Amino acid sequence: MTDFTGKTILVLGGSRGIGAALVRRFASGGGRVAFTYAGSQDAAQALAKETGAQAIQADSANRDALIATVAAQGPLDILAINAGTLVMGDPLTLDPDAIDRMIDINVRAPYHAAVEAARQMNADGRMVVIGSTNGDRMPFAGGAAYAMTKSAIQGMVRGLARDFGARGITINAIQPGPTDSDMNPADGPMAEFMHGFMAIKRHAHGAEIAELAAFLAGPHGAMITGSMQTIDGGFGA
Ligand code: NDP
Repeated sequence: MTDFTGKTILVLGGSRGIGAALVRRFASGGGRVAFTYAGSQDAAQALAKETGAQAIQADSANRDALIATVAAQGPLDILAINAGTLVMGDPLTLDPDAIDRMIDINVRAPYHAAVEAARQMNADGRMVVIGSTNGDRMPFAGGAAYAMTKSAIQGMVRGLARDFGARGITINAIQPGPTDSDMNPADGPMAEFMHGFMAIKRHAHGAEIAELAAFLAGPHGAMITGSMQTIDGGFGA
């Protein structure tokens, strides 16, 4: 089990789902963890109490507040960017403001947070960004804008790997497939449909995603950068 003792870690969007699994994994590994949330105050406080992590309210859609929050953490060893939203439906009828807010949270925020963290990040720091297997494959209608946001993460990760590499800082995308969370419940109405695209026909658990993040963020991840690490039960195979 990768040990994070002495590491300063920030998880963006950590109150629920995959983000909460990241907080649990880094905290149980001994890291000094802070995480942001936007609306789920009760869940955030409960997680903070459970793990000893610090909960910080900061909406990723508010660029300046996000940048200030990242800067206030001081030099980080690990930044995990997880906050994301999913807006799906007929592109001809979806609210353009909802699409733009998703782009703010899923694309603009990861970029500005990564850049801000890099200003102070310790040498050999680690960044992991939660993308999606939908960055590679969108096999059904209604997901164009969401897939666009996750494909954008791929370009960002490739480019920033080049910008940060001289300091030993790595940045990678983790691309989950269907993963049990409020966004995509394992017992939800879409579950069976999504399992149809998978070789292993079940939702992942957040802890499985977090373990991959722990590997990338640990010492064994030193030579992995600019990459997409897909963990999707064969959804994109
Ligand atoms: P959930 O909706 O279950 O949880 C989302 C988390 O992100 C919450 O902690 C939420 O905090 C936080 N968040 C959302 N918007 C903001 C915001 N504006 N500012 C700060 N925090 C925010 O989602 P998942 O755990 O399922 O998804 C996490 C990530 O994984 C997303 O990027 C998603 O796209 C990606 N993903 C998920 C998959 C899945 O099947 N579940 C598959 C592939 C990728 P709060 O409630 O406090 O606002």
